[in-house]
Amino acid sequence: MGIENYDSSKIEQFKDVWVFCEQRQGVLQPTCFELISEARRLADELGCKLYALLLGDNVADGCKELAGYGADGVILCESPLLKNYTTDGYTKVIVDVVKQMKPEVVLFGATYIGRDLGPRCAARLHTGLCADCTHLDVEVPVYQHFLEGASTLAPERIAGTDHAMVMGQPHDVSHDLKMTRPAFGGHLMATIICPRFRPAMATVRPGVMKKAPFDQAKADAAEIIRPEFSLTEADFETEILAVEKAAKKLVDLIGADYIVSVGRGIAKDIEGGIKLGQELADELGGVLGGSRVTVDSGWLSPDHQVGQTGKTVHPKVYIALGISGAIQHKAGMQDSEYIVAVNINPAAPMFEIADIGIVGDLFKVTPLLIEQVRAIKAAK
Ligand SMILES: Cc1cc2nc3c(=O)[nH]c(=O)nc-3n(C[C@H](O)[C@H](O)[C@H](O)COP(=O)(O)OP(=O)(O)OC[C@H]3O[C@@H](n4cnc5c(N)ncnc54)[C@H](O)[C@@H]3O)c2cc1C
Repeated sequence: MGIENYDSSKIEQFKDVWVFCEQRQGVLQPTCFELISEARRLADELGCKLYALLLGDNVADGCKELAGYGADGVILCESPLLKNYTTDGYTKVIVDVVKQMKPEVVLFGATYIGRDLGPRCAARLHTGLCADCTHLDVEVPVYQHFLEGASTLAPERIAGTDHAMVMGQPHDVSHDLKMTRPAFGGHLMATIICPRFRPAMATVRPGVMKKAPFDQAKADAAEIIRPEFSLTEADFETEILAVEKAAKKLVDLIGADYIVSVGRGIAKDIEGGIKLGQELADELGGVLGGSRVTVDSGWLSPDHQVGQTGKTVHPKVYIALGISGAIQHKAGMQDSEYIVAVNINPAAPMFEIADIGIVGDLFKVTPLLIEQVRAIKAAK
């Protein structure tokens, strides 16, 4: 297959952007569409093609859907041995195919599977991977524009980001993927490049990138490539005996249009506060979220947590009840379309980003909000 002479340092040989598209029991996961949409911009900035990388058994039906969100084509690897995800099988195939086709960038969702698979492939391919990215850029002016809005760097420092020192030498970063992620507990953001090896690899947080509208014409034009790869039972050191789905239904914060989150403000009546938040969420057809305090205290299960170490969400409406607005919480919800904050403290930082701020006791304000929503619904 011509992969013997593979050398990840010959960066000029690498081209195109790939997105690993995760499917479970044949169902494409939401992160695929978010990543394809974002990677379209990156491929355009690099002047190359964008391919979805799809592995599984009888999964070709998903190809058009992936192309409809912006992929030029799909690299499809099918085998009965790829029916269920295994680190061994998926790594073997991806490494084989990357060595043959040499993409310049490979992105994974930072899901359980992506976090397992991405670093393993990067190590085998002798390249770098930046984990848990929240922002990606290629073109320097676009990246600098992002820094102007998102950082506290002085203009001259931003202007200097067109190059980096690599092995003691100035390096032009105009063709490098700039991978930005929270660092030091979210107190600062770090941008990382992989200047000496390809592909540049990243895992990207689910829910951060926005899904583009579906385009049927693009879906119909999908190019499907079926590369050669070798995979036999001998490549597996593990065996899947059974796949069991967790019986517990987790809260789908990422897909929700309306989120009502509660914070330590419910402390004086935890059960009552959760009930009020849930009731308001139910009236809106949304879901209940929470700050880390509510999860660490055992008041809510971890799937409810919004923020840097929880989920990143951008619902149509986010209602924060008794949440102060620490940067780690804001990092997960500040891109919500409309933010309503209820807090007894008029100086709470959450009010700085709220579209509507209500200074008051959540136990008094929330029943009024529920009443209002019910009245509006009844009037329709
Ligand atoms: C590395 C790291 C990662 C983190 N990740 C996350 C994360 O993912 N998500 C997250 O949320 N946090 C995270 N945190 C924690 C974060 O720093 C804050 O501690 C946390 O968000 C505070 O939660 P809170 O707003 O519920 O509580 P508090 O900060 O204690 O705020 C409670 C608020 O409720 C108000 N209040 C009190 N009573 C009432 C009432 N009756 N009615 C209305 N308002 C009332 C108070 O005025 C106050 O503003 C992280 C911290 C670190 C160091």
